[in-house]
Amino acid sequence: MWRCRKSTFFWLFSCTNCLQRKSFLRLMADVVTPEQRSLMMSGIRGKNTRPELTIRKLLHSRGYRYRLHDKKLPGKPDIVLPKYRAVILIHGCFWHGHDCHLFKWPSSNESFWKEKITKNRLVDERSLQSLLVAGWRVLTIWECALKGKRKLPVEQIADDIVLWLEMYSASAEIKGDYRQ
Ligand SMILES: [Zn+2]
Repeated sequence: MWRCRKSTFFWLFSCTNCLQRKSFLRLMADVVTPEQRSLMMSGIRGKNTRPELTIRKLLHSRGYRYRLHDKKLPGKPDIVLPKYRAVILIHGCFWHGHDCHLFKWPSSNESFWKEKITKNRLVDERSLQSLLVAGWRVLTIWECALKGKRKLPVEQIADDIVLWLEMYSASAEIKGDYRQ
């Protein structure tokens, strides 16, 4: 295991014996303060986006069954797997202001977009913390893992989702390959 230079996330090998094939799953620390319990919950995502459909198809093909857009949970998570006490959030990199090559601040209407994206990021953070407080595990999958020059092989993503569901209790995220 080694630490990603850019973040506090840990990169994991998917197999400790085979260093060739690295997992793109990164586990995040679950740090939650009591104040975060009271944070508001609301959703901002579009439903049934293409990345979302791709992930749903992958899960289904691996035999997992899930609920969609559960309104009772903070932020109406895209995919809920109650048996695993797990939710999967699929974030569009632009709307959710991901720090990646798919996100650029628009050059017109700058203040509008600044406010909009900043608010989206805040809502995401609050929803994430509320889910963690409620005892859910959260996997965030960014659009850049599925699209563009940094995308990952879909089977790799499917393997990582399964690995996370079955092996790890911490929350995690999957994003494009930024190792170069
Ligand atoms: Zn991204």
